[in-house]
Amino acid sequence: MPIQILPEHVVAKIAAGEVVERPASVVKEIVENALDAGAETITVEAEGGGRRLIRVSDDGGGIPSDEVELALTRHATSKLQSVEDLTRIATLGFRGEALASIAAVSRFAITTRARGENAGVNVRVEGGRVVNRSMVGAPVGTVITVENLFYNVPARLKFLKTERTERRHINDVVTQYAMAYPAVRFSLHQEGHEQFRSNGSGALGDVLVEVLGLDDFRQMLEIGSGASEMRRPDLAPVEVRGFVSQPALNRSNRGNITLFVNGRHIKDTSLTHAVVRAYGNLLPDGRYPVAVLMISLSPAEIDVNVHPAKTEVRFSQPDAVFSAVQRAVRTTITGHAPAVSIEPGANFLVPDEAGRWRDKPTPALGSETSQMDFDLSPVPETLQKLVEPPSFSVPSSAAATRRRNLPVLRIVGQIGATYIVAEGPVGLYLVDQHVAHTRVLFEALMADRAADQIETETLDGVTIEVDRRGREAIERHAGALESFGLGLEPFGGSTYLVRTVPDLLAGRDIEEVMRLITVDLQTASKEDAARLVAVRVCEAAAYKQGRTLDHADMQALVRKLEYCAEPKVGPRDGGPTLIHITADDLAKQFGRG
Ligand code: ADP
Ligand code: MG
Repeated sequence: MPIQILPEHVVAKIAAGEVVERPASVVKEIVENALDAGAETITVEAEGGGRRLIRVSDDGGGIPSDEVELALTRHATSKLQSVEDLTRIATLGFRGEALASIAAVSRFAITTRARGENAGVNVRVEGGRVVNRSMVGAPVGTVITVENLFYNVPARLKFLKTERTERRHINDVVTQYAMAYPAVRFSLHQEGHEQFRSNGSGALGDVLVEVLGLDDFRQMLEIGSGASEMRRPDLAPVEVRGFVSQPALNRSNRGNITLFVNGRHIKDTSLTHAVVRAYGNLLPDGRYPVAVLMISLSPAEIDVNVHPAKTEVRFSQPDAVFSAVQRAVRTTITGHAPAVSIEPGANFLVPDEAGRWRDKPTPALGSETSQMDFDLSPVPETLQKLVEPPSFSVPSSAAATRRRNLPVLRIVGQIGATYIVAEGPVGLYLVDQHVAHTRVLFEALMADRAADQIETETLDGVTIEVDRRGREAIERHAGALESFGLGLEPFGGSTYLVRTVPDLLAGRDIEEVMRLITVDLQTASKEDAARLVAVRVCEAAAYKQGRTLDHADMQALVRKLEYCAEPKVGPRDGGPTLIHITADDLAKQFGRG
């Protein structure tokens, strides 16, 4: 045969082979696109182990209708413009190959609506050729459907494993991304059954409870932030966060050591080895820990353009990463600082002397740290102070693990459409949904206000009537009202026009909330005004008594409560958000005590 340039459709199929190895690779690429598009919720469905159907829906920014066909073309990307950009990649995708590759080897459909456009577009592709395009009604975001994967690549089809194996790979991909992006709500359905769900609370611990189960999660230790600060000053800053198992929790292979670099799941035998080595002889021979590590470093320090599937990265200073990982794991397991004090048997709700409920103090990094049997040259104290903490920022994945102030609670159900029943490590909890939700919203609102990040909604023609005292109160506390996004304008006589309200109040009875706030403010001091306004706003926005909540709502609420600074009391008058009935109490009630 004479030498000839291959036709484009053959090139496309060959290239597709590198990106799309199996159904799980399709899921991975499409989920990465959804994350790059800023999705907050990602739903994955698969049938036939992903061969018959894969559907991924996201609520990200969508693709402008005149760019959809382009997005399906090889080497078309919105994430990269120049070669230099390759050195600072902050997105998961950048090669512009995934959609084209997937569409080349499947029956492919995309429905997408870009933010700002008023209709969506649906494009269908078969074996790489567009067969239909139409405008459709669709919410902002993207739904990609991949059917009959590899129908036109018999060679690949032959090498697929059983449906069960493929299902497991899909499950792994989705749970991995859920771990890397705890602020995104993931759900996975396979063969019509829900297999996995994360609540988007932003806490890695919450995702791990779902992935590992509560019992195993209780044996995980959270890597403290101190671990990365002790780094060697001559090496590039590397931050390592995440969870590692106490030595008692171990597995027969390395498959439970999960590594992420800047929010990207990677495979790296050397770093996996660093984790195992950090356990030294704490693990029996042939046993391996469970670990989930979020490694962050400057994008300039890594090359992600190593392999079409992007599961490998190259580090400019591999030693820096290796030793940072080893040190983080080692200090965590030897310091044995419980990440979240949820060892079974601990009584969580005994307040300390100050009446506040607290975690156990984290033991200081002891001398054990410096006795490690490998590369951990201690850094002289004077130098340590000179070392700046890493000051680069990494995309949303690096959601800092916040501090848990309640044990992990498992939702049992709801009673009287008013109370949530939950089980904790030591007994039963009854949570008042209204007061608890008010607490959660209150802390979030106060934090947003402090960061000057209150989102507001502009209203049209909402007015309130107040008397003289009400007017004085509004004028005296205008600053406090304004700071929560409550914009009022005098409208003649005793009337005020409500121009803006915080987003939280969207759809609420604004006149009623304002009436209550005005009454509160009449007797409020300057110091108290802000809190009173915030409490009223949050009470109005919170779940009411009598509201039926589904499991996901309850779980999301309780997870957020666990991370509140003061989860046990309502913000109005310190009344309880929850009642704890210990296992002992129950035993006594049943005459066993
Ligand atoms: P890459 O992710 O490497 O850029 P892809 O082939 O995966 O390449 O996607 C091509 C382009 O299509 C992306 O750069 C992006 O602009 C757009 N795109 C793909 N999926 C989505 C999505 N779910 N939401 C918004 N835009 C998307
Ligand atoms: Mg992509």
